[in-house]
Amino acid sequence: MKKKIAVLPGDGIGPEIVQGAIEVLRVIEENFQHEFEYEFGNIGGNAVDIDGSPLPDKTINLCKNSDAILLGAVGGPKWETLPVPLRPEQGLLKIRKELNLFANLRPTTYYESLAGSSPLRQEIIEGVDLFVVRELTGGIYFGKPSERTTINGQSGAVDTLVYSKEEITRVLEKAFEIAQTRSKKITSVDKANVLESSRLWRECANEIAKKYPDVSLEHMLVDNAAMQLIRNPKQFDVIVTENMFGDILSDEASVLTGSLGMLPSASISESGPYLYEPIHGSAPDIAGQNIANPLATILSAAMLLRVSFQLEEEAAIIEKAVNAVLDNGFRTRDIISPNTKIVSTTEMVEEVKKEIV
Ligand code: ATP
Ligand code: MG
Repeated sequence: MKKKIAVLPGDGIGPEIVQGAIEVLRVIEENFQHEFEYEFGNIGGNAVDIDGSPLPDKTINLCKNSDAILLGAVGGPKWETLPVPLRPEQGLLKIRKELNLFANLRPTTYYESLAGSSPLRQEIIEGVDLFVVRELTGGIYFGKPSERTTINGQSGAVDTLVYSKEEITRVLEKAFEIAQTRSKKITSVDKANVLESSRLWRECANEIAKKYPDVSLEHMLVDNAAMQLIRNPKQFDVIVTENMFGDILSDEASVLTGSLGMLPSASISESGPYLYEPIHGSAPDIAGQNIANPLATILSAAMLLRVSFQLEEEAAIIEKAVNAVLDNGFRTRDIISPNTKIVSTTEMVEEVKKEIV
């Protein structure tokens, strides 16, 4: 299989961890006779420095002409005082818009060997395997007006929560498709007792559910869902929800099983290409020291193979390799626990490569 991957290392630890993921992909290429072409682009602070914009046109074109995009992370103190349009995060918001990435997919899986780094007791998280589907381009983060205003003669502020039926339907459809490939259970999270947009969301979910008779749909109010995620996370498989609820719940879900440095994500559109990135940021405090955890980015590369290239076997081999390395006791500093061995970023990558045979 011949495919082109746009690689956007970004800032901070981005280049180190992306390098690690590419090395792992190269081993997959060799072992399975695939040919991936990697073309690099600038995004974020480095793009501001080099091209004068956090998302130069040539990066947009590169992404649009690729089969998938692998991103590290953007941002850092160096660029924090720039005017808003020049801030690194604007690059990320803009690429999501340019590529119409309407859903963010975040799997959270349990790693037995990391159970000690979870804030929850092992019996609560043992076997957790859930998948959050968050709507990414609508809702209160984008509704207009969003401004300071006057309310009853007093100063105030307004934000607007808007969803079209089409925006709701496409993300729900995606979630049902994903649920079909998993344990066929989907929890749609809303606040339908209060919000009209949530009542529309619920109606749409019930409508779509008719097309997927083998998937069981349950509705849950967001406040209850936030509690249930901590009390009994094993009850969940696919969770689908709107933008703001998904932002909050997916961060909550990500701490169930361990470190920020472990969790991958995919952002998808109607037609592709999709974008893959670790959920953590650019970690400027540890950049350039060869101590960052590369596993979230390596697992993002595995998601890329599975979702964009339909290479399930290859994706599963990477995930198995990551598990094996953890079982063997290798740890970057963020996931250290008693009786384990501290390794650097590059050593961790080497260990993963060794496990792919
Ligand atoms: P952003 O706003 O870009 O999401 P953030 O403020 O959430 O960034 P991160 O960059 O994710 O922050 O870092 C949060 C903390 O987690 C930092 O102390 C960082 O060093 C640590 N961290 C993040 N990613 C990793 C990683 N891959 N390996 C080790 N530590 C990490
Ligand atoms: Mg963050």
